[in-house]
Amino acid sequence: MLDVITLPAFNDNYIWLLKSRGDKRCWVVDPGEAEPVQHYLKTHELTLEGILLTHHHADHIGGVAALMKAGVTVVGSVQDVYRLPPLNLQVTQGDRFQLLGHTVQVLEVPGHTLGHIAYFIEDQHPPLLFCGDTLFAGGCGRLFEGTPEQMHASLQALARLPDTTRVYPAHEYTLSNLKFALQVEPDNLQLQQRMTECQQLRDKGQPTLPSTLADEKATNPFLRISQPTVVRCLARRFPDQPATAPAEGFALLRGWKDKA
Ligand SMILES: [Zn+2]
Repeated sequence: MLDVITLPAFNDNYIWLLKSRGDKRCWVVDPGEAEPVQHYLKTHELTLEGILLTHHHADHIGGVAALMKAGVTVVGSVQDVYRLPPLNLQVTQGDRFQLLGHTVQVLEVPGHTLGHIAYFIEDQHPPLLFCGDTLFAGGCGRLFEGTPEQMHASLQALARLPDTTRVYPAHEYTLSNLKFALQVEPDNLQLQQRMTECQQLRDKGQPTLPSTLADEKATNPFLRISQPTVVRCLARRFPDQPATAPAEGFALLRGWKDKA
């Protein structure tokens, strides 16, 4: 049984720390800064065994050098070896490796960056997904390197994982994402309810994460491109750019959110 601990970093990043109950070893995902991790390791007398990196942006890798020591495994995409800190394990689509007795599966999810990967732990109940800046609660990452087609395909691949999957993105962007989602689907009751719940969590200073894939499929417009409500909204807003394929609808929605 893996526990996932939330370590806030910077303004709105989360570093996820994975540990097995009764075990002093742990892993972290995307340590953009070292201090929150070092502090947690010290106060809980844990040993860092490994680091999972989803992509090369500084707010995800900035803490790696300070956390590196003998015995720490750093995992990242083979595509980004020149942009990531030195990797002990270079991975690609479909690779599997062991983490604290669990099997981690690698999913390539290009879009935010070209070499972006996600980590899926299926043999945990519920399953866990660490998706970096690809899928956010209520939204998705900006397209810095990839095309709308790539990002749409990546999100669709994530949407095919089990509905119970716990989704661990790297940022607390939920409220602004849900605000935008409500512009797209103002009558989505589940979305309205999610906004209320997330607002209450933030008012108490608590994270809105993880979410579940079922939540995302019900309320995240970027996973709902083919829903009639979203199709109609895009047709109304962009009457001169009729989307003839879901990836085109995705491009319109992403462009709208970029300017929102
Ligand atoms: Zn990023």
